[in-house]
Amino acid sequence: MSVTFDEENIEQTYHTLVRDVFEGTVRKVNSHYPDEKSVRFDWERINDFDEKTGRQSIRNPKTVRGKLEAAISAWDDVDIPRSIVRVHNIPEKHHFRVGKQRTTHLGQLVTIEGEVVEMEGVKPFAREAALGCHQCGTLNYVPQSYGKMIEPAECMGCEKSSGPFLFKRERSDLIDYRKIILQRSDTNLDDDPPTLIVYLTQDLVDRVGPGDHVSLVGYYDTGRIQKKSILETFLETWDIESHQEGVLADQLSPDELADRIFEEVEQLQNDDPSSFGADRDTVLDRLVDDGVRRQEAQSALEGLIDEKEVSEVGGDKLMTT
Ligand SMILES: [Zn+2]
Repeated sequence: MSVTFDEENIEQTYHTLVRDVFEGTVRKVNSHYPDEKSVRFDWERINDFDEKTGRQSIRNPKTVRGKLEAAISAWDDVDIPRSIVRVHNIPEKHHFRVGKQRTTHLGQLVTIEGEVVEMEGVKPFAREAALGCHQCGTLNYVPQSYGKMIEPAECMGCEKSSGPFLFKRERSDLIDYRKIILQRSDTNLDDDPPTLIVYLTQDLVDRVGPGDHVSLVGYYDTGRIQKKSILETFLETWDIESHQEGVLADQLSPDELADRIFEEVEQLQNDDPSSFGADRDTVLDRLVDDGVRRQEAQSALEGLIDEKEVSEVGGDKLMTT
């Protein structure tokens, strides 16, 4: 009996958090749903309401997230079947600079501070993959982690494990995904500063840029496929706590940025006289590598083309005029 009572108690805590403590937050998301799905929970307010749930949201964040999302979708006053719960403002003792997090923090919510030094493009990530059996056609739904596709041990339909399984995009659950590399900043370890692989998903993918100093709340975890006993780890970002834009992007005036682009085009032309013009993407990549946002570099380049300082040759080649 006491178990049932406990369970009811837990559920009631989550209902109260959603319908009372965070009522305004949830209702605000509801008025923009489904364009907006992220519901931000301030950890201190969770903890003020119930310390046990506060503790649980750090130590067992996936369970707490699942229960909060379930409580949101169960509330009749709003229509939010699929929310994204983002817990932030977690206590200072769970804040680390890149490389200061430890094994004991795996599986927990942490805040990691560092500088964005590398960014990949945004790609679709199959959070749950629908894999069609090549023998009997049954679709097997397999939750995925970041990296290698996990196939079912055996098909749910014919119980064979022969494969190959065919990926069915339209039946899979796909979200936007971006990998970035975060590096310890303000460090004396100039030669080899610690880095961490960080994943951004859904509405967070466009929120940071190269060179930005960020403080990210996320789930610290190991990859599901490991080749060595020294494990590869990553941070799955749950929320962006704070965010300072890259230094270079702030320092360069529009004129200076235009000059930099002009110089890059000229240099690429001279480096390789056999190629007719400088490659547009290479020019942009070089600026992005230096901490300029791609969008800024792109619009500065458009400006140069409009003013006929740079001309477009063929599809994606540029020449100074
Ligand atoms: Zn099968």
